[in-house]
Amino acid sequence: MVENRYSKVLVVEDERKISNFIKRGLLDSGYSVDTAFTGEEALDKIHDEYNLIILDLMLPDMDGFDICAKIRRSKIQTPVLMLTARNSTEDKIKGLDIGADDYLTKPFAIGELLSRIKALLRRSPSIIDGIISVGDLTLNTKTYEVFRNGVQIELSQKEFSILEYLMVNEGVVLTRTMIEDHAWDYEFEGFSNVVDVYIRMLRKKIDDGYKEKIIKTVRGVGYKVKG
Ligand code: CA
Repeated sequence: MVENRYSKVLVVEDERKISNFIKRGLLDSGYSVDTAFTGEEALDKIHDEYNLIILDLMLPDMDGFDICAKIRRSKIQTPVLMLTARNSTEDKIKGLDIGADDYLTKPFAIGELLSRIKALLRRSPSIIDGIISVGDLTLNTKTYEVFRNGVQIELSQKEFSILEYLMVNEGVVLTRTMIEDHAWDYEFEGFSNVVDVYIRMLRKKIDDGYKEKIIKTVRGVGYKVKG
């Protein structure tokens, strides 16, 4: 599935059998997967960019609760899906309280895990530490830097605003009116095809020279960023 191709998942689970089972399921669905077998290993890796963390509660060296709390304390907002063998409501509430986004009780079917993951990723588009990614295009909402395939792209403030709006709504068609309302204030009375003009400029900077185009026209409706 193309939609998952750029989502990177960290699986923190000490039981190799379960870890492999999850990994296989994720790879089959097109995710890229990294694994950690101890809490320490997980905390080392979490500085890398992941779109989602699957976190087992019972690890040999650390408690999943502690790991999750540490992640949140270091201001990492990556969604965390907790795996718990204990079917206790208390654990679930505790997990959600310290910043986990969802939990799943073992044993579980891989289909159930995949649909939970999908829901979590939908809830938070691939925004990690202020950086939105769509394919090889990244936009940093804090530094206002845009890169495609590692090459920096200079955008005007308007172009940035329109691109950010499209990327946050990856896969969703935005009409010209929506884009206009987003990027210009209500007093703006521009020429009627102003959005098209800006999209053309954006495309020139972002898509020119690339086989895979990021900005797509949806005929008669508007524009979207792939997805
Ligand atoms: Ca375990």
